[in-house]
Amino acid sequence: MKKELLRKLPKIDELLKEECVVKVLNDGKKALITDTLRETIEEFRNAILKDEIDDFSKEDIMKLFFTNLEKKKQPNLKKVVNATGIVIHTNLGRSILCKDAIYSVIMAAEHYNNLEYNLEEGKRGSRYSHIEKILREITGAEAALVVNNNAAAVMLVLNTLCEDKEAIVSRGQLVEIGGSFRVPEVMKFSRAKLVEVGTTNRTHLYDYESSINEDTGVILKVHTSNFKIMGFTEEVPLEDMIALGKEHSIPVIEDIGSGVLIDLSKYGFTYEPTVQDSIEKGVDVVTFSGDKLLGGPQAGIIVGKKEYIERIKKNQLTRALRIDKMTLAALEATLKCYLDEKEAVESIPTLNMILCDKAELKKKAQGLKRRLKVSPEHFNFTIAEDYSMVGGGSMPTEKIESYVLKVKSSKYSAKQIEEALRGNSIPIVTRVCNDEVIIDMRTLLQGDLEIIVDAFKKMGEI
Ligand SMILES: *Cc1c(COP(=O)(O)O)cnc(C)c1O
Repeated sequence: MKKELLRKLPKIDELLKEECVVKVLNDGKKALITDTLRETIEEFRNAILKDEIDDFSKEDIMKLFFTNLEKKKQPNLKKVVNATGIVIHTNLGRSILCKDAIYSVIMAAEHYNNLEYNLEEGKRGSRYSHIEKILREITGAEAALVVNNNAAAVMLVLNTLCEDKEAIVSRGQLVEIGGSFRVPEVMKFSRAKLVEVGTTNRTHLYDYESSINEDTGVILKVHTSNFKIMGFTEEVPLEDMIALGKEHSIPVIEDIGSGVLIDLSKYGFTYEPTVQDSIEKGVDVVTFSGDKLLGGPQAGIIVGKKEYIERIKKNQLTRALRIDKMTLAALEATLKCYLDEKEAVESIPTLNMILCDKAELKKKAQGLKRRLKVSPEHFNFTIAEDYSMVGGGSMPTEKIESYVLKVKSSKYSAKQIEEALRGNSIPIVTRVCNDEVIIDMRTLLQGDLEIIVDAFKKMGEI
């Protein structure tokens, strides 16, 4: 039976002569079409071997062939609905951009621009000039520079100020962030020598002090953004580290990670040190991400004292780590929102979602539930209170009260529903908890409700 079926599989040459294939075939497409035919036949072969089908027709093969051909035209990087409630979801692209930033990216992509052209003098300019002034204004720093991401920023700063010298770091701050950013590894690449001081839970000023010698290049503070050490702990206050650095003429560097520019404690969050605080206290160089709490594009922002930033700008590595015009456009537009805090909170999606009112989320949940009445009857939707997360390694202990829709079905398991939603033409990413699918309202954007309703409607058909 199986053998017979396998024998029945058509040859590629044969299929290439099929009328419907000939219609789409031209010289430029021959390789693509041959590949797709081969893959399609392979899929049928596998299905036969696994006893998944007991017969097929040539039409079945052609149907799958055209589906596969269509799929190849679709981009691999595509829009998804984030129903996880994790606002800065690194796997889903972290921050989405504010409207102004989106328009700026389109402008930069569509037209020539003055990226490295000084319009007043009619000669070559610097790509960093567009952004330095506004970064100075917002953070209060003397100078600024932007590179590819925060990992690159830390590496560049250490390489410039601490190559072949010692960088003193507390053991409690030797963190790993997102599985790829490890302070000791970044240090190795930057050719700074790591000097660990203190213990995991406690580090004192004298630990730093006794490690200072003529080989010391910098004192580094890393914001342990994705975990909290509780209980018997002690960290040296930033002010004391700065005073120590001054006394010995050693620059103090801070990797502040998320780089929040607005004090979120006034909105009921635990206080998170802002970039402005660090600069005001006198840290020499501060680095942070562009796409975490700042809510902009992927970037690593370096702000601080002019003498150090100037040295960093001259480092050859800066050229290798530079940002492109679209990032620059998006970042400038995002930063402009920060000139007015109210505007920042209203227009930057990351901030807007984190601060979104619970009552509004409840309304959204009610609206979605109402619209889901069109779904097959075996589905059951309940509105419940739950918690969202900031994500991106920011504010790890902060649970934000939210509203979710819990989905159950008498026909499908939660895992099956989760898979079907993830396999939707516009994938919907949810989480499963206690055999229920959870759809968090906090991270749903305008238009997402429509997509979710459609997906549930379709699920009745499979
Ligand atoms: C996120 C983070 C990084 C890495 O930043 P990227 O922009 O992802 O490269 C480095 N340090 C800290 C403290 C962070 O939180």
